[in-house]
Amino acid sequence: MEMSTMTQDPAKDIVATNIEQQKETLNPHEIARLLINNATRELGLPSAVYEYLKEPERVLHVSIPVRMDNGEIKTFVGYRGQHSTVVGPAKGGVRFHPEVSLDEVKALSTWMTFKCAVVGLPYGGGKGGVICDPQQMSKRELEALSRGYIRALADFVGPDRDIPAPDVNTNPQIMGWMMDEYSKMKGYNAPGLITGKPMILGGSAGRGAATGRGVVICIREAANRIGLNLRGATAAIQGFGNVGSWTAMLLDELGVKITAIVDARGGAYNPSGIHIPEAVEYYKEHGTVTGLAHTQNITSAELLAMEVDILVPAALENQITLANADQVKARIVAEAANGPTTPEAGRIMTEKGILQIPDILCNAGGVTVSYFEWVQNIQNYYWTEEEVNAKLELMMVNAFNAVYKVHEQRKVSMRRSAYMVAIKRLADAMTARGWI
Ligand code: NAD
Repeated sequence: MEMSTMTQDPAKDIVATNIEQQKETLNPHEIARLLINNATRELGLPSAVYEYLKEPERVLHVSIPVRMDNGEIKTFVGYRGQHSTVVGPAKGGVRFHPEVSLDEVKALSTWMTFKCAVVGLPYGGGKGGVICDPQQMSKRELEALSRGYIRALADFVGPDRDIPAPDVNTNPQIMGWMMDEYSKMKGYNAPGLITGKPMILGGSAGRGAATGRGVVICIREAANRIGLNLRGATAAIQGFGNVGSWTAMLLDELGVKITAIVDARGGAYNPSGIHIPEAVEYYKEHGTVTGLAHTQNITSAELLAMEVDILVPAALENQITLANADQVKARIVAEAANGPTTPEAGRIMTEKGILQIPDILCNAGGVTVSYFEWVQNIQNYYWTEEEVNAKLELMMVNAFNAVYKVHEQRKVSMRRSAYMVAIKRLADAMTARGWI
């Protein structure tokens, strides 16, 4: 497109370009801006709302020198982005991965603002990452990197400013090291700095299952709306890690027949239904579901196109795109992963009558229980798993109902209605603060 025909708004340009050229962007930050822009215009909100939200408020770039096991110093690059703090402190995970980039941190922090807002949590969005390959590092090196990262961020984060959590390749042990380092620097115990900690350091009961539990609550509500009886319904799940396996176990408990699962190394298919407890044990032992007894191999592409009632992408972003959206046959697509569907693919599935539960709603159970963890840390009073699950149920059902109501009233997709619910809350906070 020639410069002279471009509008001043980059997100509008993406829409225009896509409509003209029938191509899609896979850049997550561009996708996030496009969705924000659409929701702002749909609600007739002032363009100032989009202006406040199109870029993160702050991004810190840090370098972290670590003495490696061979005695040499190696400097790692890390980031922490705070997208919006209009309704509360920033909240979001820390990713350790070779492909971490500034753009990715910006996009993921933006999604977190919307995820927190759609559930009504008193948080904005944050995200962090360090460019590293944890698979190539010893435990001692990882500990030194984790402590170095949080030391570098110490004046930027904190229980009232920005609360990190685990993300790809980070786990409760890493959260424990970071909390310990920060507490030593401050001179007092600060469990509210970070969530996803080991239980003994103030982690919450129910956090491990929380994202999958939230996904299943959304599926149950969606099934009710379209008159699908879950007992005997069929499902296929892409990704069998934390989110995919918990989703499988909880769907199994509701009587759903899971006929296919895949992970990064292969898949398993049984038209009569896979024995999920056995699959979980097998995956723990082998790191893949390939070769599970009484199943045939299946690829990710085959799984996404299967004749099932419910499809759950629970692995990576950009899995359902213009290239394969018309092959999806499920009645419900529950986006357990972040960004598994491109906006164009979403539009095609909407036209086919598929009810899509968008990621910012569908996988919000994790950050919701992280919020409960932070509340418990601040109170120094801990809840039982039953209490946590009951509160999660209430918040997820309320969020689902709010999104579904806009979807029905405005005749827009669930994705667009989720962004509208979220942006309305953010805009209300901006108005109340006198920003707009
Ligand atoms: P995980 O690392 O525990 O599991 C990821 C799974 O996906 C693994 O089984 C892996 O083998 C599989 N996978 C990877 N590449 C694949 C491919 N090309 N095809 C098929 N399968 C593939 O991660 P997780 O915590 O379960 O997170 C999964 C998704 O859910 C991510 O998008 C993550 O951002 C999102 N999410 C996670 C949480 C949480 O609480 N863990 C919360 C919100 C969103």
